[in-house]
Amino acid sequence: MNTTIIGSGVAAWTLVRELRKADPESQIRLITADNGDFYSKPMLSNALASGKTPESLVMTPAAKFAEQQKVDLIPNTSVSAIDADARKVSSSAGEFNYDNLVLALGADTIKLPLEGNGASDVISVNDLNDYTVFRKLLEGKKEVAVLGAGLIGCEFANDLLKAEIHTTVFDLADRPLARLLPEQASTFMLNKLAEKGVSWKLGRSVTGIVKTGTAYTLTDSTGDSTQADLVLSAVGLKPRTELAQNAGLTVQRGIVVNGLGQTSHSNIYALGDCADYLGKFVLPYIMPVMQSARAMAQTLTGKPTEIKFPAMPVSIKTPDCPAVVNPPLPEHEGEWEITADENGVKALFKNKDGALLGMALLGEASKERQALTPLLPAMI
Ligand code: FAD
Repeated sequence: MNTTIIGSGVAAWTLVRELRKADPESQIRLITADNGDFYSKPMLSNALASGKTPESLVMTPAAKFAEQQKVDLIPNTSVSAIDADARKVSSSAGEFNYDNLVLALGADTIKLPLEGNGASDVISVNDLNDYTVFRKLLEGKKEVAVLGAGLIGCEFANDLLKAEIHTTVFDLADRPLARLLPEQASTFMLNKLAEKGVSWKLGRSVTGIVKTGTAYTLTDSTGDSTQADLVLSAVGLKPRTELAQNAGLTVQRGIVVNGLGQTSHSNIYALGDCADYLGKFVLPYIMPVMQSARAMAQTLTGKPTEIKFPAMPVSIKTPDCPAVVNPPLPEHEGEWEITADENGVKALFKNKDGALLGMALLGEASKERQALTPLLPAMI
C-alpha cells in the first residue's frame, strides 16, 4: 500500500509520524515543493525578538526526518496535476502512482490590489524561505508598515517592536483582531501595544505604495500618507485548492473533506490549511492538524476513524498583551459577559442558559485558559 502525501508542512510531517506509529512498514512517499525541512511555522512571527535565524528554526532537517520515518522523500518538486481515476500525480520530477493520496498543501497569502511602483515590493511571511528574505530586507530598517491587524499582523507588530523596529499597522476594520475578539478586548490589545510603541491606522485601506529610492510612501483611503522602509502584508490566507479543483474534487473555501478527512474522491484525503472540514470549517491552526493527522492515520491503515475537534483555543503570541481566543461558532447564539481592568480582559460568550460557548482572555486573564477550556463545547 503506497500513501503519497503532497506537502511537507506540519500537516504532512505529523501525518507521517502518526502513520508510522500505526504501521511501521507501509510505503510512504512525500512530494514537496520546498526542501522539506521541518520547522515550526508559528515561530515565524515571534522569531525576531528571540534572535532566531532561519537555520535555527529548522527542528529536523528533511533528510533526517525521512530516514527516521522511512519516507521516500521527493523534495523541491511541484505537483502540477492529479489523475484521480488513474491514481497518479504529475510533477516536475515525473509521474507517481499511489494507492491513497493526501493533500497537505497549505494556504497562499492573499495579495491586496495596490497601485504604485512599490506595490510589488510588499512581502508576506508564510514559510521559512519568506522569513529568510524578510530577515535580509530588515537589515538596517527602522520603520515597517504592517497591512492587517489580525492574529499574524499583531504578532509581527509586537515582534518587530521587540526587535526595536517601529511599526504602523493598517486595517480596514476599526480595531485589531476584529474577527476574533469582542470590542472591549480589541481595545485592550490596541492600547497595550500602543503603549509600547505600535502605531495604528485603522478603519481604512491602503490604496497605493510609491517607492522613492529605498523608501516607501503608503497612501490610504482617508487620504493620509505614511512612510516606511518595508511593507509587510498579513491580510489573510487562502487555502491552496487549484490542484484539487482541476482534479474534479469538491472545493468550497478549501478542499472539502468528510468526517474521515476524505475528499469527494475516496482515495484522496486532505488536512491542514488547505482543507475545508465538512464544508464548514477552514481552520488554519496547529491543533486541528494534530487532531486530523491522528484520526487520518488510523483511517489510512484500515481503521476508519472520525476526526474530532474539541475546543481548541489559540494563543496570540503578543508578549506585551498575551491573549487566548476561542471565538463562538457562527451558529451560536448568546452574549459576551466581560470583566476588565488595567491588567486584563476576561470575555466569556454564554448562551441564555449560562453555558460557555466562546472566550477571549487577555493579559492576566489569559492564565485562566486551562481552567476554562474544558467548559467549552467541542466543534465536531
Ligand atoms: P504549510 O506549512 O503551508 O505546508 C504546505 C506544504 O505544501 C509546503 O511544504 C509546500 O511546499 C507544499 N506544497 C504546496 N503546493 C504544492 C504543490 N503543488 N506541489 C508540492 N508541494 C506543494 N497556528 C497556531 O495554531 N498558532 C500560532 O501561533 C500560529 N502562528 C502562525 C504564525 C504565522 C506567521 C503563520 C504564517 C501561521 C501561523 N499559524 C499558527 C498557522 C499554522 O502555522 C498553520 O496552520 C500550519 O503551519 C499549516 O500547516 P500545513 O502543513 O497545512 O501548511
